[in-house]
Amino acid sequence: MADRRPQRIAALIEALLPLKLDGLLLTNAPNIRYLTGFTGSSALAFLSARGDLLFITDFRYKTQASAEVGDIADVEIEQQNLWARLWQRLPFLAGVEVAGFESHHLVHRDFERLLDAGKRWQWRPTLDLVEHLRERKDPDEVARISEAAGIATRALARTLPQIHAGMTELQVAAALEGSLREEGSEEYPFPSIVASGERSALPHAGTSARTIQSGDLLLLDFGASAAGYCADITRTVVIGRADDEQRDIYGVVREANESTAARVKAGMRGKDADALAREYIERRGYGEAFGHSLGHGIGLEVHEAPRLSRTAEGVLAAGAVVTIEPGIYRPGWGGVRIEDDVHLGADGSDLLTHFTRELLEVG
Ligand code: ZN
Ligand code: ZN
Repeated sequence: MADRRPQRIAALIEALLPLKLDGLLLTNAPNIRYLTGFTGSSALAFLSARGDLLFITDFRYKTQASAEVGDIADVEIEQQNLWARLWQRLPFLAGVEVAGFESHHLVHRDFERLLDAGKRWQWRPTLDLVEHLRERKDPDEVARISEAAGIATRALARTLPQIHAGMTELQVAAALEGSLREEGSEEYPFPSIVASGERSALPHAGTSARTIQSGDLLLLDFGASAAGYCADITRTVVIGRADDEQRDIYGVVREANESTAARVKAGMRGKDADALAREYIERRGYGEAFGHSLGHGIGLEVHEAPRLSRTAEGVLAAGAVVTIEPGIYRPGWGGVRIEDDVHLGADGSDLLTHFTRELLEVG
């Protein structure tokens, strides 16, 4: 597998130059992972525009840091306080006077450290510098997301035949999460949503002790992860026999998902992608019932750039991997959402989550 870190570091330096920054303090773990390879949760990094990369972690990660980061950075292991080590080491980085910090990823207490112990440097807020680089996935990243998507769909295929009326949502989640592990998921990138009956009308329902009944809609929204990269998928099924209303509404969501996943592509604005699904759902009379945005980027995090929403002006980058997740929710009745992951290649888009969109009747 190609080591992309030098390219990523070079691209970040390019992004610092027009901002007249001599360096950037990195405090966000996924951003640090992207640049250095470090998979732990506690680290600080500082990249200077001259190419010096300082990496500081604590004693727990000594072995891991030398294996993962290697010599891409100057690795410092600190026993006490990462920030104290930063203030010791930063004066040795040549040419750094004006430095950026990640304004989305610095708590106020740490911001005060910049103004106090770090007052010999001028600090400037930056937004999404590394996040923008992360938007364009390289082939290895797409392969990992695709692998995670395979884990998720195989786990779903194992779980559906086990579901029946009388089980609780938690029991279904236990079966699903067990299957995710058995299929090789490293972790659960977010808490699984297993929502039945009228609870399926809550787009972020979580999972409860409710007992699933015959005739219920059952919505399963969950993720898998492989080598740090996430997949995110939703399917909605019916327990027992589906009635006409369930079939109608399911058909609208399915068409919105399928046609949008086929037409979304790099170069569109996020809001234009959102409109592909939203205009169809509006035409079918359910516009009010699709209250959330169409989708989001996935990668090292389950929600990352870009956004696909009514207000997203940003252009979808070639290489991005995004979710397409239209839904219709009717309080007191239930909800249907169908979510797939799509890679926006330079010459066309590819579906990464291969799982039937037919309405399945289970149990
Ligand atoms: Zn999801
Ligand atoms: Zn999602």
